[in-house]
Amino acid sequence: MRIGHGYDVHRYKAGRECIFCGVRIPVDFGPDGHSDADVAVHALMDALLGAAALGDIGRHFPDTDDRYKGADSFRLLEHVMELIGEKGYTVSNADITIVAQKPKLAPYIPQMAENLAAALGVDHDRVNVKATTEEKMGFTGSGEGVAAHAVVLLNE
Ligand code: MG
Repeated sequence: MRIGHGYDVHRYKAGRECIFCGVRIPVDFGPDGHSDADVAVHALMDALLGAAALGDIGRHFPDTDDRYKGADSFRLLEHVMELIGEKGYTVSNADITIVAQKPKLAPYIPQMAENLAAALGVDHDRVNVKATTEEKMGFTGSGEGVAAHAVVLLNE
């Protein structure tokens, strides 16, 4: 087995789409970024690449490359899964934590986990998505931005 960890942060910006694990949340702000800025999927991709010793998403999808402007992070995740598969790995399980003071994510978590399980090609009980706040402290607490952590285990 191989373990990987990923971490990502995006700043919130007014008028941006707010997408977490492929779920569009109806608010008037969202994570800013070159792609669709799906912060939890970015953390997950880094965890997968980390577990396989394949570097990070900055190496595979540079934000200086116009091909990835506005990119659907699930398309990028598909590519990461191909790389993982080429090395002979499958996903055992994944655990994701989103750190956000806003918006309220709890109602959307089951759909987020379902989207990720489908993308990873695993059963629902192998993906967990959690959301927490930092008690109004720091950049997530002030609502300036959002962070996500991911841990994955790969089978060799
Ligand atoms: Mg990112």
